[in-house]
Amino acid sequence: MKPNLLKSVLITISIIFVFFLFASCEEYSRDYRVENGILDLRNADLAGGELIDIRGDMAFFWHEFITDGNTGSFSVSAAESFMKVPSYWEPHEKGYGIYSMRILLPESLPARLALKMTNVLENYSLYADGKLIYQVGQPGTSMEASVPDSAPALIEIPVNADEMNLVFQVSVWNEVYGGLARNIYFGDCRILEQARERGLFLDSAILGAILLVGLYHLMFCLMLDFERKNLSYLFLGFVFILTILFIGSKDELIFRTLFNGFGAAVRSKFIYSTLTLSVPFFFCYIYFVFPEFLSKAALRIVLAVSTVTWLIILFGKTSFFTRLLIPLEVFNLSVSVYVVLKLVYYSIRKRRLIIPAYLGGYLMLVTGVVFSMLDNFMVVPPWSPAVIFMAFSVYQTVLQVSGSCTAYRQVMNLNTAFIEMEKETEKQKDLSYIDHLTSLPNRRYLNEYMQKLWQRNSMTGTVIGMIAVDIDYFKLYNDRYGHLEGDACLKRVAAALTESLNIQGNFIARNGGAEFIAVLPGCSDTELFKTAEHMREHVETLQIEHVDSECSVNVTISAGTSSAVPEKYTNWLSLFAQADDALYSAKRNGRNRVESA
Ligand code: GH3
Ligand code: MG
Repeated sequence: MKPNLLKSVLITISIIFVFFLFASCEEYSRDYRVENGILDLRNADLAGGELIDIRGDMAFFWHEFITDGNTGSFSVSAAESFMKVPSYWEPHEKGYGIYSMRILLPESLPARLALKMTNVLENYSLYADGKLIYQVGQPGTSMEASVPDSAPALIEIPVNADEMNLVFQVSVWNEVYGGLARNIYFGDCRILEQARERGLFLDSAILGAILLVGLYHLMFCLMLDFERKNLSYLFLGFVFILTILFIGSKDELIFRTLFNGFGAAVRSKFIYSTLTLSVPFFFCYIYFVFPEFLSKAALRIVLAVSTVTWLIILFGKTSFFTRLLIPLEVFNLSVSVYVVLKLVYYSIRKRRLIIPAYLGGYLMLVTGVVFSMLDNFMVVPPWSPAVIFMAFSVYQTVLQVSGSCTAYRQVMNLNTAFIEMEKETEKQKDLSYIDHLTSLPNRRYLNEYMQKLWQRNSMTGTVIGMIAVDIDYFKLYNDRYGHLEGDACLKRVAAALTESLNIQGNFIARNGGAEFIAVLPGCSDTELFKTAEHMREHVETLQIEHVDSECSVNVTISAGTSSAVPEKYTNWLSLFAQADDALYSAKRNGRNRVESA
């Protein structure tokens, strides 16, 4: 495993572990159950801070409504049926009902007692010993008469005797099911307040962290000018923002703090919108990370379905679009399965470790969504979806940082390589690197220069072109005109070759004898050939007499070209060997010509 990836996983695990420790430190006792509507807490150590997670069977009165505060007729003893709490009031659907419970209290009590309520679908009034003490929204016997609303609450309960009767009036007209579906805790008010503060801190920390991560990705895309290959950052940024809205709108306390006064309908639209939009945004994110993996048709389908669903949610009635939940989840799940299968398929085919790494992040997001669904049915700890989303955000960030680090490291290496190259230019002035006769860089310089260039271009993946040049029948030239004339000829040819190469970044060295090597980084094959041909013509136009040449009346050259994108763990001599081969085929094929490898 690559070290970066390993670090990513380790960092994610440690951060999540800290949050996990923090989130799971609340303890509620489940030793006491509501049995036939009675919660016997006579042996509970409420004064010592014991907190009770209320679950069991409360007395239940379907289609009954409390008028003028008279709860007497709904006491536990009058009950004919019971309803499990916390749970939806299945098989009943829309309508209204009453939950009733008697709590037997121990002798020693804390100064203040309280109920900690999560949300109730869709509203409730709470009566303690016949007195209305708290209300969220307005329960009603019809859609028109009721007002849906939800908010977690810490409700202080007045205690006058060794037992109390709690009665909840609930109604539901918009959602499919209703009832006391979420946790209810009971105990010392002061300790419950502390627990609430801890929960708020955890939520704020998680939302704050995800917000920063989201902004980071959006800024990243903004600063990179929305280029196509960077769009993945944009979409991931939106996924994070949607995650915040999703968690934030599930956590009513934060939602109400930020969007107070919008009511339950807006909140419902919010939750459904975030759920609907997160799928296309995440799909686009993966699509732009691995554009070659996911099909365009699938992208179009996801976008079309999500847009239509979203419009229905935006402009439809709550009672209508809540019925979309199941098909929506089936659709989201199918999209997830498609993406997972595609990624698995390519990770096996391409053997790229980075794909399972992204897959891990994707599975986290899906798990988060699944957990928040399961949370509605109380089968997972209430804090778990937020912690999973947190894990997803941390993991994705670490993954992105790891990618950016690789890019950064490459840039830094490249920078070092460029500085090295600059030093090389300085070196050209050093006499031990210069050929005395032609004043061109010598073979020693060529070797060192090529090693650096090879390494630098292997990082950038830039091609290097090479031309090997040799004077034709030069031995014969020496023989006829003498060594001194030979030297003069070499000088003129060297100058002509240098002139023909008059582009910054290109350079030519004398490789010894009458052979020269030209180097043209980033040059296309056609340009390379053109340059070599230009060199050949240029030497020909010098018209240096060479009567013994078998291919011309003047001095001519032959040239061989080759090019390659350097790869790591190879060296430049392979490129040279190719150019040399091409040169010798030019010789074999009659000289005074250019051949390509
Ligand atoms: P070919 O067309 O096959 O290249 O034939 P050639 O005669 O040019 O053969 P080759 O390239 O092997 O010969 C190179 C000659 O260059 C041999 C040597 O006499 C001459 N030479 C090498 N260095 C110098 C130098 O510094 N000055 C002079 N004047 N001649 C040199
Ligand atoms: Mg020669």
